[in-house]
Amino acid sequence: MTAPEQRETPTAIVCTPPEYLSRAVRYCPTCKQRRRFSGRDAAWYGCTWTCCACGDSWTEGERHERPFQRGWRKDAIKRARKTWDDAAAFKTIDHLAWIKERVGF
Ligand SMILES: [Zn+2]
Repeated sequence: MTAPEQRETPTAIVCTPPEYLSRAVRYCPTCKQRRRFSGRDAAWYGCTWTCCACGDSWTEGERHERPFQRGWRKDAIKRARKTWDDAAAFKTIDHLAWIKERVGF
C-alpha cells in the first residue's frame, strides 16, 4: 500500500493553442461606438476579439455568451486591456506568415 504522501497527484492537462495577439479599433455593437479591441488568433479556431471597454467577445462574428458570474465584465476588461498591451510585441506584417507556418500552406 502506498502512503498518502507518495501517491501521485492527478494531473489536469489543459491544451491551449499558441496564439497571435492583435489590436484593432472597430465598432462595438454593445458600446455602440468605436472601441479598442484586443484579438487572440489561433490557427484553425479564428480570431477572438474582445472589446477593451465592455469586455464582450466575438469569434467569427458571433458574440460569446456572457458568463453567469458576478464581476465577469470587470475581469474581461482587465484581460482585454492586458492583451492590448501585450499585443504591442506582435507585428501585423508577421501575422500571415505565422498562420501559414501553423496551417502548412
Ligand atoms: Zn464594447
